Amino acid sequence: MSVSLGLPRVRSGGPAPSPAPVGAGLVDRHGRRATDLRLSVIDKCNLRCTYCMPAAGLPWLPAAQLMSPAEIGRIVDIGVSRFGIAELRLTGGEPLVRADLEEVVAAVRAGHPDLPISLTTNGIGLAGRAAALAEAGLSRINVSLDSLCAETFKQLARRDRLADVLAGAEAAAAAGLTPVKINAVLMRGVNDHEAPDLLAWALQHGFALRFIEQMPLDADHGWTRENMVAAAEIRAALSTRFRLDPHPDPRNGAPAQLWDVRPLPGPGQGPGGEPGPLGTVGVIASVTEPFCADCKRTRITAEGRVRSCLFSHEEVDLLPLLRAGAADAEIAETWRAAMWAKPTAHGMDRAGLDSADYVQPERSMSAIGG
Ligand code: SAM
Ligand code: SF4
Repeated sequence: MSVSLGLPRVRSGGPAPSPAPVGAGLVDRHGRRATDLRLSVIDKCNLRCTYCMPAAGLPWLPAAQLMSPAEIGRIVDIGVSRFGIAELRLTGGEPLVRADLEEVVAAVRAGHPDLPISLTTNGIGLAGRAAALAEAGLSRINVSLDSLCAETFKQLARRDRLADVLAGAEAAAAAGLTPVKINAVLMRGVNDHEAPDLLAWALQHGFALRFIEQMPLDADHGWTRENMVAAAEIRAALSTRFRLDPHPDPRNGAPAQLWDVRPLPGPGQGPGGEPGPLGTVGVIASVTEPFCADCKRTRITAEGRVRSCLFSHEEVDLLPLLRAGAADAEIAETWRAAMWAKPTAHGMDRAGLDSADYVQPERSMSAIGG
């Protein structure tokens, strides 16, 4: 099946006049300031998760259109030195599909010894590269894992690779890329019964599990509200086996709402002392409990375009400026102007996807950089 993705509106060729206040960082009209950069290094992937990619894949970007390690290093440098970017997440597509990912990490790390640099990956091939990535300067890893059952994994990812992912997560921990976080998307009737098992497994391994509500960002446009497993359902399912208490630390704009996890009181258990938490679990409820008002994210696609929001319909191209030899100031001004136009909110939480408030973006999750 072929999928037409359409194209987002792209602006390029130098800064648009922006009323954004100079010197305030990447601020927008609604008073938010972006300090968390999500940068996609590649659109291509070796899995075909049903909630993200079509079975046939997508038309991949030609290699020459991907930012080089030096170009990525320069964009991050502009973000950190001019806008106070305090955190970088490398994503994709599947970042490990890039053979030069270690060079990308090293290029960023060279200029910024203290910047937290994390990576979101499906974990395939991570077992053989975790140590080199740590050596290059990576701080931490998020591994995506939706099922502990090989058959279910294969059904969801359309590839039989569970063992590679498990080995990858363990290698990340062994390489010190901690805390290792695990991202899981639950699909109704497929893996939603696994929520407590996934949490028990994560706690046992010392991984921090986060459930992500399925968002309407799949290339097949197959998302339905009825089939989405909502945050409230996820918490209810976990509560059948664990006690969840709100985590005391302030959320501070983080997408995941965190819960301390404790065992349920056993039969006949006396008052005794309060058991310490076994760990935490996060729920990222982008659809039913959106956190747009506190968003701190700015995004760059693998071909160097700024997206002010995951759900944007407009992109601003930085790569032609970079490749034409523009000064840092001009690139920065273009980025700043793009962020000023960040939408208030995605609108998914309101009437429904047939509401005028929400129009699915032209790009799917893998092509944006989730
Ligand atoms: N390939 C890498 C991976 O899977 O971790 C990085 C890119 S992937 C787009 C980043 C994260 O987005 C993954 O945790 C994945 O589960 C999540 N994701 C993809 N499509 C999604 C969707 N429609 N709704 C919610 N999360 C989604
Ligand atoms: Fe690939 Fe990640 Fe999308 Fe799965 S979620 S298809 S691993 S980009």
